[in-house]
Amino acid sequence: MVLAPPRPSPDMPPVRVNLYSDTQTRPTLAMKQAMMAAEIGDEQSGLDPTIDALCARMADLVGKEAAVFLPSGTMCNQISLLVHCTRGDSVLAHRTAHLLTSEGGGTAALSGAQVMPLEGAGGQFSVETLKAAITSPSRHAPPQTLVAVEQTANLGGGTVWSLADLTAVAELAHSHGMATHMDGARLLNAVVASGVSAAEMAADYDSVWLDFTKGLGAPLGAVLCGSTAFIDKAWRWKQRMGGALRQAGMDAAACLYALDHHVARLADDHANAAQLAKLFAALPGITVETPQTNLVFLDTTGTGRTAGELAQALRRQGVMISAMGPYRLRACTHLDVNAAEIAEAAEIFRIILAA
Ligand SMILES: *Cc1c(COP(=O)(O)O)cnc(C)c1O
Repeated sequence: MVLAPPRPSPDMPPVRVNLYSDTQTRPTLAMKQAMMAAEIGDEQSGLDPTIDALCARMADLVGKEAAVFLPSGTMCNQISLLVHCTRGDSVLAHRTAHLLTSEGGGTAALSGAQVMPLEGAGGQFSVETLKAAITSPSRHAPPQTLVAVEQTANLGGGTVWSLADLTAVAELAHSHGMATHMDGARLLNAVVASGVSAAEMAADYDSVWLDFTKGLGAPLGAVLCGSTAFIDKAWRWKQRMGGALRQAGMDAAACLYALDHHVARLADDHANAAQLAKLFAALPGITVETPQTNLVFLDTTGTGRTAGELAQALRRQGVMISAMGPYRLRACTHLDVNAAEIAEAAEIFRIILAA
């Protein structure tokens, strides 16, 4: 569960340290300049060279034949489900998967598929768990057509799937005739944290996408990749849903800029997250899940105060953080938050907890 961010109000001080989400990043001046300089055309007529350049670059990055530019990651997930599944099909995914918990019921509403939620630590399920969930075909059981993983696993704590686990899960899925999908909203965080390339991670996945509006800092855009046949079908859904665009090369230019300038620096976000975890773990009553990437989850049970109460108290002191459950807070690091601000947030939190 992700609670809505508190609305700005006259009695609230301005946000000084924004740990609410890596979606809160704003395009830098240089990114905006790249957008202004972009060569553009009518995207849905195939006349936008910057969109074409971004799609070619992304397909190459993840080792797929083709790619399509979409406004959001949610649309990448939902269009993938529409292509892979039909009504009544079953999608095997972790019970915290974004496509199950955070897309407004889109999976049921649009493709009509149902999700079979799998258990497992850190937002990941083991190959044994997947094996146990596979049913033998019968008229009673829903047809199992897709296995979906999240790299990194957001609500699992921003954890990174190992290449071995990704491969084992995909091989098992394929051996049972199922397709495989990778929600790569933060795929490049996983790449930077592990040193494994995006193409290796996505090799056994029939569809994979990357979001440009998380730590990469673009104002909109995500790119979905797969075989030429898959992307042809995805394009049909993009058109049907009103996701076919016009001079969207301006947005693609921001994404290309992010690929050139904002990927290596994700390592800074990971270092800042580690530092945040260390400082917050020293606070009384706060338990911290050791971060693997840029998402840090905190348990407030030991303070006797709820996540909602503490998020409110922090917000009143200019620190924005998200309450993800009754006693669970999430802090995100990203390109608009630096080490000094993290130290400042920890100090503010210390004073609040001492009060
Ligand atoms: C943010 C996110 C999405 C959805 O992306 P939007 O661009 O916000 O629509 C999907 N999956 C995961 C894991 C995410 O974190």
